[in-house]
Amino acid sequence: MSTLILRGRAFDGKSQHPDAVVKIDTINGIILDFGERGSVEVPRDAKKLRLDRDATILPGLVDAHVHFMSSTGHGPNDWAAVPDTLAVLRGAGELRKLLQAGFTSVRELGSKGGPHLAQAVSEGSIEGPDVVSCGRALAQTGGDDDPPGFPLRLAQELASYSYFCDGPWECRRAVRMVDRDGARVVKFYASGAFSRGAKVRSNFTDEETKAIVDESRRLGLKVAAHAYGEEAMERAVRCGVDSIEHGLGLTSSLASEMGKRGTYYVPTLHIYRNPVYKNRDNELVKKHLSEDMQIAREKGVKVVMGSDTIGDRTIPHGRNYEEIVEEARFLGNREALIAATSRAAECLGLENAGMLASGFRADLVVVRGDPSKNTRALAPENIVHVIKRGRLL
Ligand SMILES: [Zn+2]
Repeated sequence: MSTLILRGRAFDGKSQHPDAVVKIDTINGIILDFGERGSVEVPRDAKKLRLDRDATILPGLVDAHVHFMSSTGHGPNDWAAVPDTLAVLRGAGELRKLLQAGFTSVRELGSKGGPHLAQAVSEGSIEGPDVVSCGRALAQTGGDDDPPGFPLRLAQELASYSYFCDGPWECRRAVRMVDRDGARVVKFYASGAFSRGAKVRSNFTDEETKAIVDESRRLGLKVAAHAYGEEAMERAVRCGVDSIEHGLGLTSSLASEMGKRGTYYVPTLHIYRNPVYKNRDNELVKKHLSEDMQIAREKGVKVVMGSDTIGDRTIPHGRNYEEIVEEARFLGNREALIAATSRAAECLGLENAGMLASGFRADLVVVRGDPSKNTRALAPENIVHVIKRGRLL
């Protein structure tokens, strides 16, 4: 067995330790032990990684909402025009950047070739964070992921990242299709996103939503609902989805219900501040960047870090940590760090991940500075080491 020791300040995925030791089995890629200095037995022949006094050890970061759109421009026309092969090759480059930025797991919610990127990482063909992919999303005909202006056939085949499905049986079949494609999570559009005007419409009926959730459960897949507006969120939560993505228009009663059920909330705040984003002045967006997050915090909703980084040339991967900074403004630094480590791993359904603890995956990041004091310590320029499955990169 080969043992690697890291010693220093640590955030273990839930709390801060001023002087801790992490003991890693680099062959099997697991953490053998974690604890305060003195409590962890250090073998004499163990390799030690020297860290600066100002460094902090954390579990590898997790981004629960990303895309690999891989186009040079931004928007459905550009995304549609990228050939699949080029999209996947560019996606591989983006994955490498994510790993260098300290991300060891991501959840991909709509891209070309998502399950293949996931497979290429897991078999070691390319370097990147582990990818939990949705394959394609599920969308109703004429709904949010049916871009206006394309003939239906072209919209389905080229422009959208979804299987269009209408009625409970088509919805069940679409879930079976993404499962067949290699998805590990089901994403569906419970609402629009201003793509058809400033007013948000909810998508899918009760019976369709129940069918999506029920079929996903039968196949052992989690369900993520893209949801804007109270109606869409209420239906998705009541029908039992695992996570609400974006979640614009959160209300107190909805937040209470989510708190009770343990529904995850992935608010993707940072994307709404991007200059490329067209609807920055929408009232729902403005409320999202203020009140929604206050409600989520007050009601104890399980907020998870998801940057919604698009992965095209206008919004490339690498600075996904900005979402953590954004969330910290509302939740405080510690909660924002939990949202990007242990809780995000839980949301993705990753086993033994997101914590510095015995038996957990040896996915770690070492940064310069103390993110519990300033989350900007997680910026790529402050990343000192990334360890994935026990291997130092
Ligand atoms: Zn997204």
